[in-house]
Amino acid sequence: MGILSAKLSAVKPSQTKAMTALAAELKAQGKTIITLSQGEPDFATPDHIARAAIAAIHAGHTKYTAVAGIPALREAVAEKFQRENNLTFAADQITVGCGAKQLLFNALVASLDDGDEVVFPTPCWVSYPEIVKLAGGVPIAVETRVGDGFIMQPSDLRAAITPRTKWLMLNSPSNPTGAVYSRRNLEGLAAVLRDFPNVWVLADDIYEHLVYGDAEFCTMAEVAPDLASRTVTVNGVSKSCAMTGWRVGYAGGPLELIKAMNTVQGQSTSHTCSISQHAAVAALNGDQGFIGEFRDAFEKRRDLVVQRINEIPGLSCDTPDGAFYVFVGCEALLDGTTPQGKTLATDMDFAMYLMEEAGVAVVPGSGFLADGFIRISYASSQDDLQNACTAIGAAVARLK
Ligand code: PLP
Repeated sequence: MGILSAKLSAVKPSQTKAMTALAAELKAQGKTIITLSQGEPDFATPDHIARAAIAAIHAGHTKYTAVAGIPALREAVAEKFQRENNLTFAADQITVGCGAKQLLFNALVASLDDGDEVVFPTPCWVSYPEIVKLAGGVPIAVETRVGDGFIMQPSDLRAAITPRTKWLMLNSPSNPTGAVYSRRNLEGLAAVLRDFPNVWVLADDIYEHLVYGDAEFCTMAEVAPDLASRTVTVNGVSKSCAMTGWRVGYAGGPLELIKAMNTVQGQSTSHTCSISQHAAVAALNGDQGFIGEFRDAFEKRRDLVVQRINEIPGLSCDTPDGAFYVFVGCEALLDGTTPQGKTLATDMDFAMYLMEEAGVAVVPGSGFLADGFIRISYASSQDDLQNACTAIGAAVARLK
């Protein structure tokens, strides 16, 4: 009998992290690699937030905290939900954890029995199916179409729901497609959910502040208040405040489930770092001007990458409305032959070819349950993005 559990053997490591680790390894060997595989803003954490953390250390806020987070942070989160999303939560309906990722994990561990199903649209974030499996559930992937802007259609949701369905997990703006669910899109899904009172909604709003042009962010509990009693809204400071390493995410939802999530957390990580929690209070309550500055910078980079990628024969992408990813179709290049005589059979082969031949790290679409694509993160400097697009174009031109 091996040491690993049957449950874990079904769980795959993150391809995003694998590609980024490989890029780091090649860099350590002296190769020049532009890393566009990581979902992480390249900006520094704003100074007033960093200073709040340093002050917290000096004030001695270095001890265990309440499992659900310090009261000041839970209050700041409740105010944020009220101010920006028109959602009203009491302090005990808020919980804080080690990133949005842990909140999703806590919610699923707290609610899934073996065999319960979790429906989510694909392409999806690499971690969704794996977190569902770790929690004992069954991931139910619902394919979305390029022609629908990668938006899940109500009829597809209806067809995916069974008596075992416990959750719809929805991420908008989406990683990896950048799709943003409009109010109308959410209303369409809400209409289906009203016919299935046992299905809950796990809204992953981590890219909330990264929406561009005319696109407008909205979240299910706001659009369909009648579903709020079965919706958990997850968010955090990682992407909007350039705070990925601080590990602060938060969630608001029905008391019974939030309490159960606290039980899961209390028996695992206990809580997120006390110092990070004080930094997050400054992020939520302090000057938010930087959010718009980051967004404007990302929008320019998005436009640059979309234009440059579409100039490369064989690659194509639409202009995404949100997040900081471009999901690029590369199917036309599969079956091509590299200068070394290797045939590119899959998007993984193409991603590896770009790593070796162009010195650019991207993530293959298969990691997001969508074959025939690569995901490019444009959370990098304009120079890096320009150089990466030039190198990708040259590498593609060498394919036969
Ligand atoms: N949800 C999605 C869709 C993400 O892309 C990510 C990070 O890549 C997360 C959640 C995790 O965010 P955090 O850093 O707050 O755990």
